[in-house]
Amino acid sequence: MSSAVALVTGAGSGIGRATALALAEDGFAIGVLGRTKEEISSTSDEISARGGEAAILLADISDEHQISAAVKELVARFGRLDVVVANAGINGVWAPIDDLSLSEWNDTISINLTGTFLTIRATVPELKRTGGGSIIVVSSINGTRTFTTPGATAYTATKAGQVAMVQQLALELARHHIRINAVCPGEIETNIDANTSLRKRDETSIPVIWPEGQVPITGGRPGRSEDVADVIAFLASDKARHITGSPIWVDGGQGLLR
Ligand code: NAP
Repeated sequence: MSSAVALVTGAGSGIGRATALALAEDGFAIGVLGRTKEEISSTSDEISARGGEAAILLADISDEHQISAAVKELVARFGRLDVVVANAGINGVWAPIDDLSLSEWNDTISINLTGTFLTIRATVPELKRTGGGSIIVVSSINGTRTFTTPGATAYTATKAGQVAMVQQLALELARHHIRINAVCPGEIETNIDANTSLRKRDETSIPVIWPEGQVPITGGRPGRSEDVADVIAFLASDKARHITGSPIWVDGGQGLLR
């Protein structure tokens, strides 16, 4: 049995993949959860190639039965759970409010917000059994510092909701020695554009141009998934033992500018 175990949702690409690799490097056995078998298998293979341990968990976080079964499978395999990274999410449809359909709204809410709720609900009993742990929710600058992303109303609502959930649960879970925090990335180069649909931008965009780019600390270049993964690894570790209920912006200053 491994000494410490972490679950990472959306671990097949981008921030989730980088986080799974970073936590494996720190000695965690990893539950590599996602919807696309080839992608999570590839992350798992890379962890194994570097001498780590991983379990492939094929599940949709918006399906309560699938996420519960995946958590049970992980605990059956490694015997415990210490860290949960609720990362999986989509940008969804970005459109004017009177053009956004209910089903488009529901898709974003059910993955980003309900999926986060289901991930936390399924894992908290295991963290309690362990005697404590750390939950990290991947939110965004959108909905927390930034409100200028064209048409991103549903996305922004989910990301604000995630931070509210983190703050509410920090108090509830403290008595169980479970810390819960959020990371709020700015623009990070990942595959998320494949899960983005932007309609009628001219009706929603704010006419502001930043000639030097939007990310002050890099001179405009977007962040890398590893920039976020390193902060998640810190929050997962004992070095963050006194931090709970805190959003941490990992945006190179972008959210302050926008
Ligand atoms: P990404 O490369 O698209 O990765 C997202 C992962 O989540 C994919 O592997 C995807 O798998 C998985 N996923 C999506 N819906 C899922 C579901 N219902 N069940 C299970 N897995 C699911 O995007 P990313 O940029 O790394 O995004 C990760 C998180 O960071 C998201 O919560 C996003 O909102 C947040 N974020 C990203 C940025 C950015 O600029 N990239 C900025 C701020 C916040 P499939 O491909 O199989 O769907």
